[in-house]
Amino acid sequence: MPTVSVQENLMWVRDRIRALAGAANRGPEAVRLIAVSKTVSIDVAHEAYAAGQRAFGENRVLELEEKAPRLPADCEWHMIGHLQKNKVRSIVRHAAWIHSVDSVALLQRIDGIAAEEGRCPRVLVQVNISGEATKSGVTPGEARPIVAEARNCRNLVCAGLMTMAPFDSEPADLHRFFGSLRLLRDELESACGCALPELSMGMSGDYEIAVAEGATMVRIGTAIFGAREGV
Ligand SMILES: *Cc1c(COP(=O)(O)O)cnc(C)c1O
Repeated sequence: MPTVSVQENLMWVRDRIRALAGAANRGPEAVRLIAVSKTVSIDVAHEAYAAGQRAFGENRVLELEEKAPRLPADCEWHMIGHLQKNKVRSIVRHAAWIHSVDSVALLQRIDGIAAEEGRCPRVLVQVNISGEATKSGVTPGEARPIVAEARNCRNLVCAGLMTMAPFDSEPADLHRFFGSLRLLRDELESACGCALPELSMGMSGDYEIAVAEGATMVRIGTAIFGAREGV
Protein backbone atom coordinates (compact mmCIF):
# COMPACT_ATOMS: atom_id res chain seq x y z
CA MET A 1 0.00 0.00 0.00
CA PRO A 2 1.46 3.42 -0.85
CA THR A 3 1.96 5.65 2.14
CA VAL A 4 -0.77 8.19 2.33
CA SER A 5 -0.91 10.61 5.20
CA VAL A 6 -3.37 10.47 8.03
CA GLN A 7 -4.51 13.91 6.95
CA GLU A 8 -5.26 12.73 3.40
CA ASN A 9 -7.05 9.65 4.67
CA LEU A 10 -9.16 11.75 7.00
CA MET A 11 -10.11 14.12 4.20
CA TRP A 12 -11.09 11.19 2.01
CA VAL A 13 -13.20 9.50 4.69
CA ARG A 14 -14.91 12.75 5.65
CA ASP A 15 -15.75 13.43 2.00
CA ARG A 16 -17.19 9.94 1.57
CA ILE A 17 -19.31 10.27 4.70
CA ARG A 18 -20.60 13.67 3.64
CA ALA A 19 -21.44 12.41 0.15
CA LEU A 20 -23.17 9.28 1.47
CA ALA A 21 -25.14 11.22 4.06
CA GLY A 22 -26.21 13.63 1.33
CA ALA A 23 -27.26 10.75 -0.92
CA ALA A 24 -29.41 9.43 1.94
CA ASN A 25 -31.01 12.88 2.32
CA ARG A 26 -29.22 13.47 5.59
CA GLY A 27 -27.44 16.69 6.51
CA PRO A 28 -23.65 17.19 6.34
CA GLU A 29 -23.41 16.96 10.15
CA ALA A 30 -25.64 13.88 10.49
CA VAL A 31 -22.75 11.46 10.92
CA ARG A 32 -19.98 11.85 13.46
CA LEU A 33 -16.60 10.35 12.54
CA ILE A 34 -14.82 8.63 15.41
CA ALA A 35 -11.17 7.99 14.63
CA VAL A 36 -10.29 4.64 16.20
CA SER A 37 -6.75 5.25 17.40
CA LYS A 38 -6.21 1.86 19.06
CA THR A 39 -2.60 0.65 18.60
CA VAL A 40 -1.47 3.92 16.96
CA SER A 41 1.15 6.07 18.66
CA ILE A 42 0.48 9.37 20.39
CA ASP A 43 2.35 11.09 17.54
CA VAL A 44 0.09 9.61 14.89
CA ALA A 45 -3.00 10.44 16.93
CA HIS A 46 -1.62 14.00 17.06
CA GLU A 47 -1.49 14.04 13.26
CA ALA A 48 -5.20 13.35 13.21
CA TYR A 49 -5.73 16.09 15.77
CA ALA A 50 -3.74 18.52 13.63
CA ALA A 51 -6.01 17.61 10.72
CA GLY A 52 -9.00 18.69 12.79
CA GLN A 53 -10.10 15.37 14.26
CA ARG A 54 -11.51 15.63 17.78
CA ALA A 55 -13.44 12.39 18.44
CA PHE A 56 -11.22 9.37 19.14
CA GLY A 57 -12.12 5.78 19.97
CA GLU A 58 -10.17 3.24 22.01
CA ASN A 59 -11.07 -0.35 22.84
CA ARG A 60 -8.58 -0.95 25.66
CA VAL A 61 -8.58 0.90 28.95
CA LEU A 62 -4.79 0.99 29.15
CA GLU A 63 -4.51 2.82 25.83
CA LEU A 64 -7.31 5.17 26.78
CA GLU A 65 -5.47 6.02 30.00
CA GLU A 66 -2.23 6.59 28.10
CA LYS A 67 -3.55 8.65 25.22
CA ALA A 68 -6.38 10.74 26.58
CA PRO A 69 -4.19 12.84 28.92
CA ARG A 70 -1.55 13.34 26.19
CA LEU A 71 -3.81 14.78 23.56
CA PRO A 72 -5.30 18.27 23.84
CA ALA A 73 -8.19 18.62 26.25
CA ASP A 74 -10.73 19.42 23.54
CA CYS A 75 -10.59 15.83 22.29
CA GLU A 76 -13.61 13.68 22.97
CA TRP A 77 -12.88 10.07 23.91
CA HIS A 78 -15.09 7.13 23.09
CA MET A 79 -14.68 3.77 24.82
CA ILE A 80 -15.69 1.23 22.19
CA GLY A 81 -14.28 -2.01 23.61
CA HIS A 82 -15.50 -4.61 26.04
CA LEU A 83 -15.96 -3.20 29.54
CA GLN A 84 -14.55 -4.81 32.65
CA LYS A 85 -16.31 -3.98 35.89
CA ASN A 86 -13.09 -3.06 37.68
CA LYS A 87 -12.08 -0.60 34.94
CA VAL A 88 -15.25 1.48 34.96
CA ARG A 89 -13.81 4.28 37.10
CA SER A 90 -10.92 4.92 34.77
CA ILE A 91 -13.21 4.82 31.75
CA VAL A 92 -15.62 7.29 33.33
CA ARG A 93 -12.72 9.65 34.07
CA HIS A 94 -11.44 9.64 30.50
CA ALA A 95 -14.32 8.86 28.15
CA ALA A 96 -17.29 11.08 27.38
CA TRP A 97 -18.94 8.23 25.52
CA ILE A 98 -19.15 4.51 26.32
CA HIS A 99 -20.37 2.43 23.35
CA SER A 100 -20.25 -1.03 24.85
CA VAL A 101 -22.75 -1.34 27.71
CA ASP A 102 -24.09 -4.89 27.79
CA SER A 103 -25.81 -5.39 31.14
CA VAL A 104 -28.04 -3.64 33.66
CA ALA A 105 -25.39 -4.23 36.34
CA LEU A 106 -22.76 -2.44 34.27
CA LEU A 107 -25.13 0.44 33.56
CA GLN A 108 -25.81 0.85 37.28
CA ARG A 109 -22.11 0.68 38.07
CA ILE A 110 -21.34 3.40 35.50
CA ASP A 111 -24.12 5.53 36.98
CA GLY A 112 -22.82 5.14 40.53
CA ILE A 113 -19.21 5.84 39.66
CA ALA A 114 -20.14 8.78 37.42
CA ALA A 115 -21.91 10.31 40.43
CA GLU A 116 -18.79 9.93 42.56
CA GLU A 117 -16.59 11.35 39.79
CA GLY A 118 -18.94 14.23 38.97
CA ARG A 119 -19.34 13.05 35.38
CA CYS A 120 -22.26 12.30 33.09
CA PRO A 121 -21.13 9.95 30.31
CA ARG A 122 -23.31 9.23 27.34
CA VAL A 123 -23.67 5.50 26.87
CA LEU A 124 -24.83 3.19 24.11
CA VAL A 125 -26.11 -0.36 24.46
CA GLN A 126 -24.08 -2.77 22.34
CA VAL A 127 -26.31 -5.20 20.47
CA ASN A 128 -25.20 -8.38 18.72
CA ILE A 129 -27.56 -7.82 15.82
CA SER A 130 -26.20 -10.57 13.55
CA GLY A 131 -26.39 -13.27 16.21
CA GLU A 132 -22.84 -14.30 15.31
CA ALA A 133 -21.44 -16.32 18.22
CA THR A 134 -18.13 -14.46 18.45
CA LYS A 135 -19.65 -10.98 18.57
CA SER A 136 -20.10 -9.25 21.89
CA GLY A 137 -23.22 -7.38 22.85
CA VAL A 138 -26.69 -8.32 24.02
CA THR A 139 -29.50 -9.89 22.03
CA PRO A 140 -32.18 -7.46 20.80
CA GLY A 141 -34.48 -8.77 23.55
CA GLU A 142 -31.91 -8.12 26.26
CA ALA A 143 -31.46 -4.51 25.19
CA ARG A 144 -34.86 -3.44 26.47
CA PRO A 145 -34.33 -3.85 30.24
CA ILE A 146 -31.05 -1.95 29.93
CA VAL A 147 -32.64 0.97 28.10
CA ALA A 148 -35.53 0.92 30.58
CA GLU A 149 -33.16 0.97 33.57
CA ALA A 150 -31.28 3.93 32.09
CA ARG A 151 -34.31 6.07 32.83
CA ASN A 152 -33.55 5.57 36.54
CA CYS A 153 -29.94 6.67 36.12
CA ARG A 154 -29.19 10.27 37.00
CA ASN A 155 -25.51 10.38 36.06
CA LEU A 156 -25.50 9.01 32.56
CA VAL A 157 -27.51 9.48 29.40
CA CYS A 158 -28.42 6.44 27.36
CA ALA A 159 -28.19 7.93 23.88
CA GLY A 160 -28.67 4.95 21.57
CA LEU A 161 -27.34 1.64 20.30
CA MET A 162 -24.07 0.27 18.92
CA THR A 163 -23.32 -2.80 16.85
CA MET A 164 -20.52 -4.53 14.95
CA ALA A 165 -21.29 -6.55 11.83
CA PRO A 166 -19.41 -9.78 11.03
CA PHE A 167 -16.27 -8.94 9.04
CA ASP A 168 -17.05 -11.05 5.98
CA SER A 169 -20.67 -10.01 5.50
CA GLU A 170 -22.18 -9.55 2.04
CA PRO A 171 -23.59 -6.08 1.30
CA ALA A 172 -27.18 -7.37 1.45
CA ASP A 173 -26.55 -8.79 4.93
CA LEU A 174 -24.91 -5.54 6.08
CA HIS A 175 -28.02 -3.62 4.98
CA ARG A 176 -30.12 -6.10 6.93
CA PHE A 177 -27.99 -5.92 10.10
CA PHE A 178 -27.72 -2.13 10.18
CA GLY A 179 -31.36 -1.69 9.18
CA SER A 180 -32.35 -4.04 12.02
CA LEU A 181 -30.44 -1.97 14.57
CA ARG A 182 -32.30 1.13 13.38
CA LEU A 183 -35.67 -0.65 13.67
CA LEU A 184 -34.76 -1.96 17.14
CA ARG A 185 -33.92 1.60 18.14
CA ASP A 186 -37.33 2.77 16.91
CA GLU A 187 -39.06 -0.02 18.87
CA LEU A 188 -37.15 0.74 22.06
CA GLU A 189 -37.90 4.44 21.78
CA SER A 190 -41.63 3.80 21.79
CA ALA A 191 -41.52 0.90 24.27
CA CYS A 192 -39.42 2.79 26.81
CA GLY A 193 -40.60 6.31 26.07
CA CYS A 194 -37.13 7.75 25.62
CA ALA A 195 -35.05 9.27 22.85
CA LEU A 196 -32.26 7.11 21.41
CA PRO A 197 -30.88 9.35 18.68
CA GLU A 198 -27.49 7.69 18.23
CA LEU A 199 -26.68 4.65 16.11
CA SER A 200 -22.98 3.74 16.33
CA MET A 201 -22.43 1.39 13.42
CA GLY A 202 -19.94 1.10 10.59
CA MET A 203 -16.19 0.47 10.49
CA SER A 204 -13.61 0.87 7.70
CA GLY A 205 -15.03 -2.02 5.68
CA ASP A 206 -18.73 -1.31 6.02
CA TYR A 207 -19.33 2.33 6.98
CA GLU A 208 -20.76 3.26 3.59
CA ILE A 209 -23.69 0.87 4.09
CA ALA A 210 -24.02 1.88 7.74
CA VAL A 211 -24.39 5.55 6.80
CA ALA A 212 -26.99 4.64 4.18
CA GLU A 213 -28.88 2.77 6.93
CA GLY A 214 -28.85 5.68 9.35
CA ALA A 215 -25.59 5.54 11.33
CA THR A 216 -24.99 8.70 13.36
CA MET A 217 -21.50 7.59 14.42
CA VAL A 218 -18.99 5.57 12.44
CA ARG A 219 -15.92 4.11 14.17
CA ILE A 220 -13.06 4.08 11.70
CA GLY A 221 -9.49 2.98 12.29
CA THR A 222 -7.82 1.29 9.32
CA ALA A 223 -9.12 3.69 6.66
CA ILE A 224 -7.54 6.59 8.58
CA PHE A 225 -4.43 5.15 10.21
CA GLY A 226 -3.64 2.18 7.93
CA ALA A 227 -3.65 -1.49 8.79
CA ARG A 228 -2.81 -2.44 12.37
CA GLU A 229 0.00 -4.91 12.83
CA GLY A 230 -0.79 -8.25 14.37
CA VAL A 231 -4.51 -7.55 14.69
C1 LIG B 1 -11.14 -1.63 15.89
C2 LIG B 1 -12.56 -1.25 16.00
C3 LIG B 1 -13.14 -0.42 15.04
C4 LIG B 1 -12.40 0.13 13.83
O1 LIG B 1 -12.12 -0.90 12.93
P1 LIG B 1 -11.45 -0.60 11.49
O2 LIG B 1 -11.85 -1.78 10.69
O3 LIG B 1 -9.99 -0.50 11.71
O4 LIG B 1 -12.04 0.66 10.98
C5 LIG B 1 -14.47 -0.06 15.22
N1 LIG B 1 -15.18 -0.51 16.29
C6 LIG B 1 -14.67 -1.31 17.21
C7 LIG B 1 -15.51 -1.74 18.36
C8 LIG B 1 -13.33 -1.71 17.11
O5 LIG B 1 -12.82 -2.51 18.06
